[in-house]
Amino acid sequence: MTAPTPAPTTSSAPTSAALFERAAAVIPGGVNSPVRAFRAVGGTPRFTASARGPYLTDADGREYVDLLCSWGPMILGHAHPDVLAAVTAAAQDGFSYGTPTEREVLLAEEIVARVEPVEQLRMVSSGTEATMSAIRLARGFTGRPVIVKFAGHYHGHVDALLASAGSGLATFALPDTPGVTGTAAGDTIVIPYNDPEALAEVFRLHGDRIACVITEAAAGNMGVVAPQPGFTAELRRVTREHGALLVSDEVMTGFRVSAAGWYGHEGLGLEHAPDLLTFGKVMGGGFPAAAFGGRADVMAHLAPAGPVYQAGTLSGNPIATAAGLATLRACTPEVYAAVEAAATAVREAASAALSAAGVPHLVNTAGSMFSVFFTGLDAVTDYEQARQQDLGAFRAFFHSMLDQGVHLPPSAFEAWFLSASHDEAAIGRVVEALPAAARAAAEGSGSL
Ligand code: PLP
Repeated sequence: MTAPTPAPTTSSAPTSAALFERAAAVIPGGVNSPVRAFRAVGGTPRFTASARGPYLTDADGREYVDLLCSWGPMILGHAHPDVLAAVTAAAQDGFSYGTPTEREVLLAEEIVARVEPVEQLRMVSSGTEATMSAIRLARGFTGRPVIVKFAGHYHGHVDALLASAGSGLATFALPDTPGVTGTAAGDTIVIPYNDPEALAEVFRLHGDRIACVITEAAAGNMGVVAPQPGFTAELRRVTREHGALLVSDEVMTGFRVSAAGWYGHEGLGLEHAPDLLTFGKVMGGGFPAAAFGGRADVMAHLAPAGPVYQAGTLSGNPIATAAGLATLRACTPEVYAAVEAAATAVREAASAALSAAGVPHLVNTAGSMFSVFFTGLDAVTDYEQARQQDLGAFRAFFHSMLDQGVHLPPSAFEAWFLSASHDEAAIGRVVEALPAAARAAAEGSGSL
């Protein structure tokens, strides 16, 4: 990787600004996924023109160290040669057939070989589809209607799962967004994360009607909040006792925190394995591929083997499966060690810079995943705590990093993503930018 020229210390991005204006005329809010619009931090989102290794280049020709990594998928860095070659070769053979292909079998075999509780899986095109299908299957398998989820956990924009904050213990949830009816979210119960008593209570009140508990394997969408020691085992024990399924959403953690995702990282073994797991992000290598899988007897309820309907025109798409297969095959132990080392270097440097500038903060980790909470709290283990952040400090920090050529996720509630391509040069640029950003955070504190 040749050393890139650092981005100039200016926040102006005229081409991105012009594109954003044009986009807003034809795309609601100018973006195809809300967080890309920079609403939480203000300013102009950078329109990416290209990306290589750990760097993004925007439409104005400025380069950034990428700590977003497409929100997780790019664990090898951008345009990794093996993945590029696989995708190019696959494209030569046509783009989509609507028939089965060998590549789907190879990718399924690769995942089954890596993640022990997955005996069978079904491919889809997004993490949202994976969780939506998994809860349909859980309801079909158990014949029960109710789903339990945790406050602050995100499982994609599935109607029944867009219910999160504000509902009291063991009360049925209200939808978080217009467009989701009370009926769609009415069989969803939201409880606090890492709270065994709330879990026990919800099963005491509704146990025989609960189809499944769905949990982010380690939460990454309210900032990073890992399960507290014993919580995953408790989830398994209680769901099993009541005949409910445990669905572990590994869309973010899967193939990122270890070859076998959070399941492999936490290492509790088959006895504590979830019944179903969902995957996305890394398994598509940057293309739309996702999956859900698990116990063969549960998966056997899926059409055409069983009665629970699920389908997709582009499911198992040849190019996406080629990218996913090449990505997973390239995810060697050395790659995981490199991601871990890069993540450790960045999070330690960020914490040191913030401490030096006197900015209250907390770094939470879940394997190589981490996020920085701009908070004076000693611990963040649930959504209530995660929400107590100094958003003014984050906003100032974010923009200072951006001006200095480091692209963080544009929200205080997101994980920072590293890749195996974040080498010394890329990490060096991040480390150099941190002290000024930390000082900006100190100045911006309390401004929002
Ligand atoms: N589940 C988790 C844990 C996620 O982090 C996400 C996306 O960020 C999803 C599901 C939804 O995936 P997608 O955006 O591919 O629909």
